[in-house]
Amino acid sequence: MTPSTDRNVELFERARERIPGGVNSPVRAFRAVGGTPRFVQRAEGAWFWDANGQRYIDYIGSWGPMILGHGHPAVVEAVQQAVLDGFSFGAPTEREVQLAETIVKLVPTMDMVRLVSSGTEAAMSAIRLARGATGRKHLIKFEGCYHGHADALLVKAGSGLATFGNPTSAGVPPEVAQHTIVLEYNNLEQLEEAFARHGADIACLMIEPIAGNMNFVRATVPFMRRCRELCDRHGALLVFDEVMTGFRVALGGAQSLYGRAIPGFRPDITVLGKVIGGGMPLAAFGGPRAIMEQLAPLGPVYQAGTLSGNPIATACGLATLEQIAQPGFYDTLAARTQSLVDGLSLLARSEGIDFSADCEGGMFGFFLLPELPQNYRTVMTSDGARFNRLFHGLLERGVYIAPALYEAGFVSAAHTDEDIATTLEAAREVFATLRA
Ligand SMILES: *Cc1c(COP(=O)(O)O)cnc(C)c1O
Repeated sequence: MTPSTDRNVELFERARERIPGGVNSPVRAFRAVGGTPRFVQRAEGAWFWDANGQRYIDYIGSWGPMILGHGHPAVVEAVQQAVLDGFSFGAPTEREVQLAETIVKLVPTMDMVRLVSSGTEAAMSAIRLARGATGRKHLIKFEGCYHGHADALLVKAGSGLATFGNPTSAGVPPEVAQHTIVLEYNNLEQLEEAFARHGADIACLMIEPIAGNMNFVRATVPFMRRCRELCDRHGALLVFDEVMTGFRVALGGAQSLYGRAIPGFRPDITVLGKVIGGGMPLAAFGGPRAIMEQLAPLGPVYQAGTLSGNPIATACGLATLEQIAQPGFYDTLAARTQSLVDGLSLLARSEGIDFSADCEGGMFGFFLLPELPQNYRTVMTSDGARFNRLFHGLLERGVYIAPALYEAGFVSAAHTDEDIATTLEAAREVFATLRA
């Protein structure tokens, strides 16, 4: 296809005229891998079609929400019904109550939830709540974890051990970042040091329990246990950012997995998004009643939203949660994901390519590294140029994985054994070209 007949190229040119970088969220621009982003025309099940009518097997699924695949009939039906009743009222609806009840039933460490419209908003509000509830200023985050783009979270590690961070974005004053302590993921020594130095001032420790924004890296069980112990000892709140892992790695989220490994384990505040909206703008944060009642209108911590608990989004979320709560849903999904990961590992190794991979539920990650990395620094030692060849090789063969090596992948319930086989066949061809 020549550029002049390539609709993706044409649209991207138009987009760049009127939208910075041509996209409304940076990773979509393909900057890391080069080339032209695919403009999606429509999607169905495990597939989408780009502006040229080219079909792809989709392993992004809107970065996680589309756990049922695209256009699940029950979800489409629920949304169509909801649209007829009205788009937004700025007044409470029964579906908000139903969704809150459903979420709390599935994630029982929460007594109450507040619905918002994006993961960024939920994480930002959770931090304000943690600061309000504890009367403290500092927060701990980990390098490579992403919690949305609120100012206090766009921070990288400072120069010393357990010191305060520096902004990673222009427009964030250093003063805003000075209460954020950035530590290395899975690094017990830094964790101990941060609490030893600043424990009395730490409002919360925020963590992705399985980090999906540095590809796929699990917090080890001893690390997570120590996070819980140190928060308890110092009166800090443990905030689980499960925007990506919630209803994705298991019905009860990553916290249900750590709860099985660590007796009595629970986060204090949970942040949810992505799957709970089923593809619509919807997110939430929740926790114990005593903490959640600190929020306005009951308590002194202000938080609000014109479109929060939107009636179409809640209909989409409820219909999605109803499907995934059916018995056996995660067993089937996890088996399908595992078969992809096992297949890729086998093919890569047979070509002599350094490769490691992991998965949980419908989420997976792989690295062109001999062993699974434990932190961001190691993730970033991956060979970017090689990853880009892999990415474009798969894309040319109709397989769409994340256009950056630090992103996780997602399998949906609509991916069939045949889709996995097609993907592995494409991967076999691409791995052969990578060997050199
Ligand atoms: C996607 C994501 C966010 C941000 O959610 P948005 O809806 O993009 O604002 C926050 N935390 C985690 C772990 C995420 O994966």
